[in-house]
Amino acid sequence: MDGVRVWRSPDNTRLVFDLSAAVDHRIFTLENPSRLVIDIEDATSKTRFDKLPLSNTPVSAIRSAAKKGGDLRVVLDLGSVVSPRSFTLKPNKQYGHRLVIDLYDKAKAAKTVKTISDAVKNKERDIVIAIDAGHGGEDPGALGKRGIHEKHVALAISKELKRIVDRAPGFRGELVRSGDYYIPLKKRRDIAHRMRADLFVSVHANSFTSPKPRGASVYVLSTKGATSEMARYLARKENSSDLIGGVENVSLKDKDDDLARVLLDLSMDATLNSSLDVASEVLKGMGRISKLHQKNTEQANFVVLRSPDMPSILVETGFISNPSDRKLLVQSGFQKKMANAIFTGVQSYFYKRPLEGTWLAANRNKVERTYVIGRGDTLSEIAQRHKVSVKRLMSYNGLKSSRIRMGQRLKIPAS
Ligand SMILES: [Zn+2]
Repeated sequence: MDGVRVWRSPDNTRLVFDLSAAVDHRIFTLENPSRLVIDIEDATSKTRFDKLPLSNTPVSAIRSAAKKGGDLRVVLDLGSVVSPRSFTLKPNKQYGHRLVIDLYDKAKAAKTVKTISDAVKNKERDIVIAIDAGHGGEDPGALGKRGIHEKHVALAISKELKRIVDRAPGFRGELVRSGDYYIPLKKRRDIAHRMRADLFVSVHANSFTSPKPRGASVYVLSTKGATSEMARYLARKENSSDLIGGVENVSLKDKDDDLARVLLDLSMDATLNSSLDVASEVLKGMGRISKLHQKNTEQANFVVLRSPDMPSILVETGFISNPSDRKLLVQSGFQKKMANAIFTGVQSYFYKRPLEGTWLAANRNKVERTYVIGRGDTLSEIAQRHKVSVKRLMSYNGLKSSRIRMGQRLKIPAS
């Protein structure tokens, strides 16, 4: 055993042991005091356990000892009740052989029940945006120079985005991933469904084999093929997350079945159109603050976007492999700007198509908001759409003429 990492998620503690070869192992629990024993056949340990971040985990201490016959025994002292699972992972680009021990906390079901009853009680509900920070835990995502990990950038922008969404009347943001741990791609969709999200936004940062490409782009699912080589390349890279992050028994067959189900779902076409509409609004928003790598929405076969009944987009906020982008992506100022730009697009989309029963549908003309001018927009058409006069729109924004340019921000007054 060459190393060990610990990742804490809201309901699970994951220990990952690096191994120099494939091993057989077994685990069992002992009581009084509560322990988990891991026996690894024909192994030795070069690892120290004293520096591991075990606070907030059910594990109070870890030790190991050589057993007679050359096996290794690792013992975890447990401070609370868990249900353990274990599995091994084959080597990939990032790691060698790994043994994964998952310690699931004993059920905390009360929270989900509360969210649902709140939603029923609230007559005019909020629009819920599920914000999915890509990667996490074992899966760092794209790696940039100076130890920059995509997973950290994605989480920082996601947290910023949640703050901005929560401040907007009629909207609520929910983080799919709130810390440094891995969530399987399919489970991310399930979590968003459980949140009753109206939109799923997966936040990422890109990387490429050359440092040249830069800029932001937005992707949605394709049910046919990828719209470009870059989109295909990116989807393959993002879909390999499960192999790196560590998912038990993930096979290509499961992924094919998953796709087949999506293709058969009749609501998929309508959902895909909504996703494309959100994506183009978000691109408009991002085009104001960042270079765009692709001016149009790209499509490819992203596993995380396969929800037949929930519009879903994947935002690449820039290239970690590009020096200029990299510098920006780690700045909290830029992260805020990026989050703002994403939300401006999201908000535009929902203002144009307010969902029935939401606070926004009842009140959208009563709050001030920002509109980013897109290709072909005219002032009179924007005024009409938001039920204000051109004159009021001009004076509210201090405009001297009705000429507008793409990317310009307009404040829409509350009526
Ligand atoms: Zn990514």
